[in-house]
Amino acid sequence: MDFGYVNWSTNTAVVEKWNEGLTQGKIMATRCTSCQQVFLPPRGHCPCGGDVEWIEMNPEAELFTYTVIMFAPESIADRAPYVVAIGQFENGVRMLAHLFANPNALKVGMKVKLKPEQLDKNRITVKYVPV
Ligand SMILES: [Zn+2]
Repeated sequence: MDFGYVNWSTNTAVVEKWNEGLTQGKIMATRCTSCQQVFLPPRGHCPCGGDVEWIEMNPEAELFTYTVIMFAPESIADRAPYVVAIGQFENGVRMLAHLFANPNALKVGMKVKLKPEQLDKNRITVKYVPV
């Protein structure tokens, strides 16, 4: 495997359910049935020992923070400069993802939306876009 390339072969029940949601346009998370902590990306277990249940997230978030990547790994060098952002959702959960937008038009606190992004026929991920 070359440096900077991601191995997409991880295939757990949690990853399958996450990917299934994405192919249906849904952002799925898990929530602990004991302490109510929400996990995005989803986890199969809570650190408190409680069981988790699946919930559909409202995909709208606020831009919590971001950075502009000028020197990218070789596998995505053609995308640079690009933005990596942390969005904060209504339930307080924060998640890191690419943000597809003009870096000069970004402002902390602006509304963004987390959307599925089909990379090719076998790979799907998420990205933020401005609302
Ligand atoms: Zn818990």
